[in-house]
Amino acid sequence: MKTVVTRRRILMKGRVQGVGFRPAVHRLAMLLELSGFVVNDTRGVTIELQGEEQQIEEFLRRLTTSDRPPLAQIKSREVLDLPVSEGERGFAIHESLAEGAVLSEVSADVAICADCVRELWDKEDFRYRYPFINCTNCGPRYSIIKTIPYDRPNTTMSVFEMCTACAAQYRDEADRRFHAQPVACPRCGPKVWLADRAGKPLLMDNDEVIAETARLLRAGRVVAIKGIGGFHLACDALNNDAVLRLRQRKRRDYKPFAMMAASVGTVRKYAIVDRAAEELLASPQSPIALLPRRPDAAIAPAVAEGTSALGFMLCYAPLHYLLFAEGLDVLVMTSGNISDEPLICNSELALERLGDVADAFLMHDREIYRQVDDSIVHFVAGGPALLRRARGYVPTPLYTEEESPQHVLAAGADLKNTFCLVKHNQLILSEHIGDLEDAEVYHHYVQSIEHLKGLLEVEPQVVACDLHPGYLSTQYAKSLPAARVIEVQHHWAHIASVLAEHGLAGPVIGLECDGTGYGTDGAIWGCECMIASLTSFKRFGHLAYYPLAGGDRASKEAIRPLLSLLRQAYGEDFTLAEFAWLLERIEPDQRKLRLILDQIDKGINTVNTSSLGRVFDAVAAMVGLGSCNHFDAQLPMALEAIAQPGVEDRYEYDLHPRSGEPVQLSLRKTVQGLVGDLKRAETAAVLSAKFHNTLAEALLAMAKAARESTRLETAALSGGVFCNRYLVNRLVMRLKQEGFAVLLNRDVPSNDGGIALGQAAIATQLVRRVPFGINA
Ligand SMILES: [Zn+2]
Ligand SMILES: [Zn+2]
Repeated sequence: MKTVVTRRRILMKGRVQGVGFRPAVHRLAMLLELSGFVVNDTRGVTIELQGEEQQIEEFLRRLTTSDRPPLAQIKSREVLDLPVSEGERGFAIHESLAEGAVLSEVSADVAICADCVRELWDKEDFRYRYPFINCTNCGPRYSIIKTIPYDRPNTTMSVFEMCTACAAQYRDEADRRFHAQPVACPRCGPKVWLADRAGKPLLMDNDEVIAETARLLRAGRVVAIKGIGGFHLACDALNNDAVLRLRQRKRRDYKPFAMMAASVGTVRKYAIVDRAAEELLASPQSPIALLPRRPDAAIAPAVAEGTSALGFMLCYAPLHYLLFAEGLDVLVMTSGNISDEPLICNSELALERLGDVADAFLMHDREIYRQVDDSIVHFVAGGPALLRRARGYVPTPLYTEEESPQHVLAAGADLKNTFCLVKHNQLILSEHIGDLEDAEVYHHYVQSIEHLKGLLEVEPQVVACDLHPGYLSTQYAKSLPAARVIEVQHHWAHIASVLAEHGLAGPVIGLECDGTGYGTDGAIWGCECMIASLTSFKRFGHLAYYPLAGGDRASKEAIRPLLSLLRQAYGEDFTLAEFAWLLERIEPDQRKLRLILDQIDKGINTVNTSSLGRVFDAVAAMVGLGSCNHFDAQLPMALEAIAQPGVEDRYEYDLHPRSGEPVQLSLRKTVQGLVGDLKRAETAAVLSAKFHNTLAEALLAMAKAARESTRLETAALSGGVFCNRYLVNRLVMRLKQEGFAVLLNRDVPSNDGGIALGQAAIATQLVRRVPFGINA
């Protein structure tokens, strides 16, 4: 039979760069005796294949199934017939092309793979005990890329010239390191050293550095360790004095610390690890997983006080493995920064800022170009959900069905900020930036937007931002030249983030439980039921407003919402004398109590709010869990942590429908019920459970009222308070029992870290409907 030779060009888009895609293509083409070439460009990967039709079909089948590199994700494929190139022999990998109109995906950093771990411990391997071992399936990516395409000269590895052995592997299509951009070995690659707090090198030999670092950690010292996306501050998590020292020096008094261990077996000693958690811990993304604490866990109390969960991650860099092999069990590994400043990734800056925090510095000379925090995941309603989206997940985009006709920048919110860029059919959410109130975080925010715009070749013609006129992100958005600005209400953006994740346009019944977000009426919203789509929303109901006195302090001091809620619940019957038994342990200063109550009664320096976060603060204070949020959501987290399982009881609440106005949810009877239980000396654990149950029932009732009025059957949940596992689990269960389909945030945080995605989805949808002129 006569064979017919054909030639095809295939353009593949998706996560196809930096994931061993070209080597896989090369191997497969050689195997199937096809000639041609493969090349990376800014659009993705272009392959030209020449050979028998059948073989080409087989190639395409296998490349997308059995021979697909493990980290690759092919999102689209275009095939074009070409004239046969006579006399072509062999298959080549061409140099990357810098031009190309469209965007290709830059991949996220990947935890060390099993093959590299094996080689790390193999005495025969020339990378035995090498702290920077990596291959096409693992290693740093996003954190070292300066510009696309993803090729060594465009990364911070460009300063290391490959030795003959590394270069041979890099060029050998049969090798696991074929075109692995960060490939290196002890002879030619980055090195570690140990420095004192002044930066003076103490030890340079690899094995001595590792052994001495481990010795310092075992002795209770704090060591700053340069990693993949930045510095960690490390200390022994079983040594309470060491942890307290770190807290004091880092000026972080209360917020829980994350920990690292070398194996799931070690994590199991301290936390409950089910199969889903085990899979997550060992995933290539390697996030911090929040896991239920074992009651007998021997973790130092100062690591995480007042929480029911412990945050664990596994070693994800070869350097971590080497350290833990020196007899370390579990380390605190917290972001290398002071308080709420940005994560530090630069060695000089680390010495300057952390010189008083760390006793020693484990340094290396592979430059970190992008600082990327560890991601945080928890398990809720039967699956994992991101609470902080950074290393391992960024910049993996979310895809939309239709392309956006214009580039969009969504500026995000001011707390837990992320921003989002939209290009074609991709929504690219930035890594966790932080709270913009800190001047350095704000500076980092502006720089990051510029960097990511350049990296992804996005020139936004449309900018979306929050409605809050006081947000720095809003002011930044409005300061941009030649951009159309779309302001998006905070809670609408929350619900839109759920819709975007699920590829839906709505409408749905949106339930938002949140701290604060600026409302269209100038009030601070925070417990909302809205009928929302990507193009509009209607406020169906909300928690009845209560006046909150004292501006910024109201989100810290629980006494402020508490006095307001008590006044609302008891009216004139509420007096400071009558409730002295409850109030004096929360705020002993009588003058201050009188002042706040006076402000509430006269409406001086108050704002109306439906914030649910502040109600949690008040209830946590009532049951004796403290009077102040030293970090965001400290009191609500403490209240969740003590909720007694198995309690089915709840308090009363009221829903007040008003014609033409949103439904009002009143918690007057709930507050009265709590006070009654306190007088009866019911335990805080029971009160907490009953309070949570009340909210779940009240939100369900609101959703049912919305369903009756709209015939919609789907409820979407979002907002910072939905980081509360007890509340979400209970509410989702009840909604499903009552026949609702329920949507939650999974890939992006339900807290303000997901706002930018919602803003981007709304802006994109609005632009699609009515394209704005570039200088409109
Ligand atoms: Zn590897
Ligand atoms: Zn080498």
